[in-house]
Amino acid sequence: MADDVLVLAEHSEGVLADHTFELLGKAREVAGAWGGSTRVALLGPAQLAGELGGADVVHVADHPALSHYLPEAYERILTRLVEQVQPRLVLMGTSTPGMDLGAALAVAWDAPVSAYTVDLEVEDGTLVARAQIYAGKLMAEVAIDAPRAVCTVIAGSFPAAAGRVEGQPQVEPVATGELDSLRSSFTALRLPETGGVDITTADMLVSVGRGIGTQDNLEVVQELADALGVPLSASRPIIDQGWLPKPHQVGKSGQKVKPRAYLSFGISGAPEHLEGMRNAELIISCNTDPQAPIFDVAHYGCTLDLFDLLPELVERLQ
Ligand SMILES: Cc1cc2nc3c(=O)[nH]c(=O)nc-3n(C[C@H](O)[C@H](O)[C@H](O)COP(=O)(O)OP(=O)(O)OC[C@H]3O[C@@H](n4cnc5c(N)ncnc54)[C@H](O)[C@@H]3O)c2cc1C
Repeated sequence: MADDVLVLAEHSEGVLADHTFELLGKAREVAGAWGGSTRVALLGPAQLAGELGGADVVHVADHPALSHYLPEAYERILTRLVEQVQPRLVLMGTSTPGMDLGAALAVAWDAPVSAYTVDLEVEDGTLVARAQIYAGKLMAEVAIDAPRAVCTVIAGSFPAAAGRVEGQPQVEPVATGELDSLRSSFTALRLPETGGVDITTADMLVSVGRGIGTQDNLEVVQELADALGVPLSASRPIIDQGWLPKPHQVGKSGQKVKPRAYLSFGISGAPEHLEGMRNAELIISCNTDPQAPIFDVAHYGCTLDLFDLLPELVERLQ
């Protein structure tokens, strides 16, 4: 089992996260290169195992304490499972559970951890991770020459399609007796108020960043959103200044969006912003700075001043 890759499945309200399939696809690739198997730790509803056809084995711990993310319960089960299975690599998201558990597991299991990972390759048998450091301002390339490791991976780094595979994995139940004596319990999941706007389901978004300058200037970008009949979203500085309500925020600490088209104006493309929108099918960006990182992910871009471009666009649409 030493060359196996274990993915921690994430789910909410009985639905597996897209991210789990992204990790599963990469796990298959890495395990394949090592000649090992792909395993999933499913801490939660057992019926979700049927959707994990991309795995060879799904380890299922089904217990009420695991139906929502509860750090104490997850850590107990995952640490014991990893000790038993001894995979060579554990993959989890750079998400609320992953950020908690990645470090905790690495300490408990005495393994190195690569956090904020965006790519993984096996080169001559060695795992090489590319990971963001200094809040994404630098990329580190790390050769993990260890018998065991943990990687937390940023959502959107790999295609989910590679993990959505039909199949019948072997399902192995995991004992959960120790969860009857927990010191913490889940009380409630509080989702942010949407204020009537749900940018996560929009087909198209017009998104605005600090380049807009002042709150009064938002009018010009709102006009474009209205002309297209789509919601307005924004980078975090716009929300932090109180110019738009929190449900409009795209990014790491905001909403993850996947529209068919994402039109951004005056947004630089910081890693925390890209994390929320890089999976949009089409990204069109306007930024006066040709070096702005948003152009690394944009399919089309222009370096015009947004105050010149927007009125023209609105006029044409009207
Ligand atoms: C833990 C953490 C979580 C975070 N979460 C998020 C998050 O969820 N979402 C998020 O967005 N950020 C988040 N951030 C903040 C993030 O790091 C950036 O600071 C932020 O995304 C920058 O927003 P911006 O692109 O609007 O502003 P800036 O980086 O200031 O960019 C403004 C851009 O506008 C361009 N510009 C200026 N004038 C014009 C003009 N007239 N026409 C066209 N372009 C113009 C400039 O060239 C510049 O590139 C987070 C940070 C941390 C540390």
